[in-house]
Amino acid sequence: MNLPNIRIGNGYDVHRLVEGRKLILGGVDIPHSMGLYGHSDADALVHALCDALLGALGVGDIGAYFPDTDPKWAGISSLLLLKEVMRMVREKGFEVANTDSVIVAQKPKLAPYFKEMKKNIASVLGVETGRINIKATTTEKLGFAGREEGVVAYAVALLVKND
Ligand code: MG
Repeated sequence: MNLPNIRIGNGYDVHRLVEGRKLILGGVDIPHSMGLYGHSDADALVHALCDALLGALGVGDIGAYFPDTDPKWAGISSLLLLKEVMRMVREKGFEVANTDSVIVAQKPKLAPYFKEMKKNIASVLGVETGRINIKATTTEKLGFAGREEGVVAYAVALLVKND
C-alpha cells in the first residue's frame, strides 16, 4: 500500500518560574517579574516544538541530543537547538507542514507576543508564519502553572516528504 509520507509528533515541556531569570518563550524576551529556570534559556515552547519534530522523525527526544550536562548548551538560545533539529528534519527529506502549540501560564498575558514568536519559529523552520500556530491558556489558578510555579508548553508538528 502506498501511504502518503506524512508524520506527526507531539512534545511537552515544563520549566520552573524563578526570580532573576529572563522569561523567554518562542525566542521572545517577555518582560515579567520572573523567568524560566533551565540549562539553556529554558524556552519551554521551543523545547516542546523540538520534541514534536523529533517525535515526528521517530528519533527520540531533545534530552538525547542536547543533554543538560553538556556545557555547550549552557545559556544558549533554544532557537539554535530548534535549528539543529530542523537540520535533522531536512536531512531525512522532510519539510514542516504545520505546527500547533499551547503555552500554559497564569501570568503574564502572552497573546501580545504571539506574532513575534511565530516569526522567530517560522524563520527557523523555513515556512511562512501561517503554518505556525501558538495558543495560550491559564489554568484558572489551579495546579503548579496556576500557582505561577512553572510554565508548560505542548506542541504538535506535522512533517511531509514529497517523493
Ligand atoms: Mg526544556
